[in-house]
Amino acid sequence: MHREGILYIISAPSGAGKTTLCKEVIDIFPNLRHSVSYTTRLPRPGEVHGQDYFFAAPAEFERMIAAGEFAEWAEVHGNCYGTALKTLEEYRKCGVDVILDIDCQGAQQLKERYHGGVYIFILPPSFQELRRRLDCRSADSVEVIERRIQGAAWEIKESRWYDYIIINDVFSKAVEELKSVLIAESCRTGRVLELVAEKFDI
Ligand code: 5GP
Repeated sequence: MHREGILYIISAPSGAGKTTLCKEVIDIFPNLRHSVSYTTRLPRPGEVHGQDYFFAAPAEFERMIAAGEFAEWAEVHGNCYGTALKTLEEYRKCGVDVILDIDCQGAQQLKERYHGGVYIFILPPSFQELRRRLDCRSADSVEVIERRIQGAAWEIKESRWYDYIIINDVFSKAVEELKSVLIAESCRTGRVLELVAEKFDI
């Protein structure tokens, strides 16, 4: 028998290093996958459809909202992003743990609808460092960077209702902290009790 998959919901202002952190732990934990979201944003250079995102036309995204196909969705920095219900159900049933790299609005929707998710917030060490990281990234225009910095102030306030906060100052330390959360959560009594009952016939 296997336990149900665990849902890890990870949010952060862009530039906090969330994507790199998530990739790092996905490479380490064989039972952990990244949930691929739908978005109306255009692909950035190097992004692959079905791997980074499912890139959808606005009309298709609207259709999915109307059909109730999203577990959550939100407008972020002028584009729509959403997690398909189907994706979550498939992973949960086959016992695969999944990381949802989503914004605070989507995380809030899941918190209201789903039980048992683990909510993790990644913070940059400071606002100055956040700006420096976004400037260096050069993937986005100046306007986009400004919009993201303004959004960050609001997002950081939302961190208070998450289960864990990780400050990504030294990357290797942040990886260790995230790994610790994932390991501890997989050992929660409620998640392993069924397995114990089966193994020890109690
Ligand atoms: P980016 O465009 O930089 O890949 O992502 C922008 C923001 O959208 C990030 O904060 C990311 O976490 C968020 N995001 C990505 N996928 C989803 C999703 O499925 N739902 C929600 N609510 N936010 C998402």
